[in-house]
Amino acid sequence: MTGPMMWFRQDLRLADNAALIAAVADGAVVPVYILDDISPGAHAIGGAQRWWLHHSLQALAAELADRGATLTLRRGAALREIPKLVGETDASAVLWNRRYGGAARDIDTQLKSSLRDEGLHVQSYQAGLLNEPWTVQTADGRPFRVFTPFWKASLAKGEPRHPFPAPATIDGAEAPASDDLDDWALLPIRADWADGLRESWEPGEKAALKQLDDFVHGNLELYQAHRDEPAIDATSRLSPRLRWGEVSPYQVWHAANHASVPPAQAKNAAAFLREIGWREFNYNILFHFPDLATKNFRPSFDAFPWEPPQKRELEAWQQGKTGIPLVDAGMRELWHTGVMHNRMRMVTASFLIKNLLTDWRIGEAWFWDTLVDADDANNPANWQWVAGSGADAAPYFRIFNPRLQAEKFDKAGEYQRRWIPELGTDEYPEPIVDLKASRNEALDAYEAVKRSGG
Ligand code: FAD
Repeated sequence: MTGPMMWFRQDLRLADNAALIAAVADGAVVPVYILDDISPGAHAIGGAQRWWLHHSLQALAAELADRGATLTLRRGAALREIPKLVGETDASAVLWNRRYGGAARDIDTQLKSSLRDEGLHVQSYQAGLLNEPWTVQTADGRPFRVFTPFWKASLAKGEPRHPFPAPATIDGAEAPASDDLDDWALLPIRADWADGLRESWEPGEKAALKQLDDFVHGNLELYQAHRDEPAIDATSRLSPRLRWGEVSPYQVWHAANHASVPPAQAKNAAAFLREIGWREFNYNILFHFPDLATKNFRPSFDAFPWEPPQKRELEAWQQGKTGIPLVDAGMRELWHTGVMHNRMRMVTASFLIKNLLTDWRIGEAWFWDTLVDADDANNPANWQWVAGSGADAAPYFRIFNPRLQAEKFDKAGEYQRRWIPELGTDEYPEPIVDLKASRNEALDAYEAVKRSGG
């Protein structure tokens, strides 16, 4: 008899997967993944994410096969595909780990009620956040809008539960017909892009766990002192792993704290976990403000007089040819590796928003397409943070000066030279804007926001 269907979404792992563990305990499992970019409100994933997804699904399918189960792939609207698969397999239940975006939650809620009406057991689990957004609230029961009290309240909830081990074997149900992953054509047509991503990453749970282990026993000790220096390998690079759920925040939490037993490491672990806290905070904001990617969190920014994007300037920014070395280095790192160092994300976003007066949504869309870690919470929340329109955001008038940032965080110029081999030659372009004049224009434009309530 067929047991439960395990619907994988942003949790492409076998270890510490609450829904999977429940499914395995409940009978012969049907593991499925649905590529849904057609449901209303679905935010179709960008090019770099598609590359990641292709390889991560391959890895997940191999891990499942090793333990006795077959991953079934389907493309289409989840509200149609899941009931169809239930019909084909005669599954007794449908289990999944929760998602937090508005459209995703609508789908899940509708499915839950329609499948339950059909007499199926449907259960969702907590696996992607240390605390569910509705459980961390201010004293008067409202969502936090400021990070520090949010993180303090999260920490006050006590140590997160320990991670669950991966099931050693899985009783796999007879698998229904599956799409062929290659037919989804997720890989980029531009070979140079795929080459850069391949050089930089090995998607999948096994590589993710090794990366976590290497980091907590290695570069974590550099974290607090050097996390802002893009030339130094001092951060975890776990963001795509967390975005796709190849590791869980519980695994990250306990690995970091376990490694922090020597007192000297404790401060590094705390600084690192604080960033995991920002991830939690951004998901919390997304949960309470589902239009995060399209609307200003602070409505006073609706009055901002953005300039219509100039094709030439926008392309120079996208291609790392603005003539401002730190900005160009960051944008080239992004194109080549699918990620960019956090400080560089702040510098390049500030340059687009403030020196080129371009609406943050245009930059968000480029990052969405080119980041392997782009997610519905962290990408828009951080863009709004830089713009000044977000929750607990940097004030608009704090305009990063890329030259000063370079002096401070890339003193020897190593990062800039790494990504711009032609630096210092005639081939490198002149700056496309005057930093000082454009800064003053940005401050003038901000007056419109101040007038409408700041
Ligand atoms: P570490 O310093 O090792 O941090 C550990 C983990 O904490 C990260 O993997 C990530 O999950 C989380 N984290 C770290 N910094 C932040 C932050 N500022 N906000 C939220 N979570 C954080 N991060 C994404 O995961 N996806 C995005 O789409 C994304 N877009 C961004 C856009 C802009 C404009 C900016 C300024 C930042 C963005 N970030 C995004 C946040 C941050 O830059 C990356 O998470 C970080 O650079 C990833 O590197 P790491 O894994 O080595 O980080």
